[in-house]
Amino acid sequence: MGKSIETLSSKAKARKRVGIPKGLIYYHYPELFRIFFEELGAEVIFSKESNRTLLLEALQYASDEECFSCKIFLGHVNDLKKKKVDYLFLPKFHGSHKTEVNCPKFIGMPDVIRAVLEDLPQQLVPYHSRTKKKHRSLHLVWSAFTVGFKITKNPFKITRAIFRAVKAQKKYDEQIRWNEEKLHAWERDTNFQSGLEKVKIVLLGHAYVLHDPILSFDIPQRLTKMGVEVITSEELPSTIVEKQLKKLHSYLYFKEERSIVGAALYFLENETVDGILQLIPYPCGPTAISSEIIMRHAKRKEKIPLIQLMLDDNTGEAGLVTRLEAFVNTMKRKKLLQLQELYKHKNLVTKQIPKDDPIELVIVKSTSLDEEGAMK
Ligand code: SF4
Repeated sequence: MGKSIETLSSKAKARKRVGIPKGLIYYHYPELFRIFFEELGAEVIFSKESNRTLLLEALQYASDEECFSCKIFLGHVNDLKKKKVDYLFLPKFHGSHKTEVNCPKFIGMPDVIRAVLEDLPQQLVPYHSRTKKKHRSLHLVWSAFTVGFKITKNPFKITRAIFRAVKAQKKYDEQIRWNEEKLHAWERDTNFQSGLEKVKIVLLGHAYVLHDPILSFDIPQRLTKMGVEVITSEELPSTIVEKQLKKLHSYLYFKEERSIVGAALYFLENETVDGILQLIPYPCGPTAISSEIIMRHAKRKEKIPLIQLMLDDNTGEAGLVTRLEAFVNTMKRKKLLQLQELYKHKNLVTKQIPKDDPIELVIVKSTSLDEEGAMK
């Protein structure tokens, strides 16, 4: 019995600890990375969720020129350094498509990290860019093997890990990306069955901003609390995004900006949301392009209001929330007027809850209200 416990604990000790920073590219391939290393037999250690302490620590190392997303990424790496992992996984992944690339900072970050953080664990830095002639699918497999051999010498285990990781990532992508059927059902749904009419917004932003509570200032959750229904650029079906992008005069080659611009153009054309909200980490070259394109198109379509919020470590939370609330309340008032017009002949009335603040908008049969307008 004692012996088997000893064997178990020595096996556990022998497991390599691989640290994955929860930022930037991680949010594109969370399952791919996790399953790959777990299948190899490694212990996967993630950095903690972003918080103010992590950000303040990151700012000690970050230069002023660094974008907000990269600054916080430094904090995540620093957190893993403290967790004493054996390896840091910092892929330089420039893109999986011949004509689409990730931001150049995805490639530069491992070098920046080495330059500003000392005593780092050994780094696993596979490099892949589909835009390079030699970097085809086989190159990606070869990169996976070079990383895999650091954890195990068993090639069959690595092959199995690749297959399982790709499968898990596909499943994750299917969960995140809506299909067209789901999108159109969401657009049509007025929630009238439940008697509750909500304002709908498309939230545009990079995956690593939308998923990070500090980078996004918790805006997705704040919108939900304000009673707003949100679809993100990450969720929009890629078929719809690609169709919209064909209407642009020039080719947009930044991968994330393609989803962002495609989503904005779709909703500006179809007018099935009440507003568009774009989150812009500062300073960001790729977003400078996408925000300009979106602004120009929104100016031609005045029906759908657009707000673009610049976010960095100096952004004041109170001011940001005030702007957000003002934007949401404007849309709610507009929607209230639209609905009052729409339902006035149908024995239906709109009701604001609370009474003077259109935080929730409820459509009810007039017969379900008492004389003073309260719900029976
Ligand atoms: S796209 Fe913008 S926010 Fe993202 S890493 Fe590049 S510069 Fe930073």
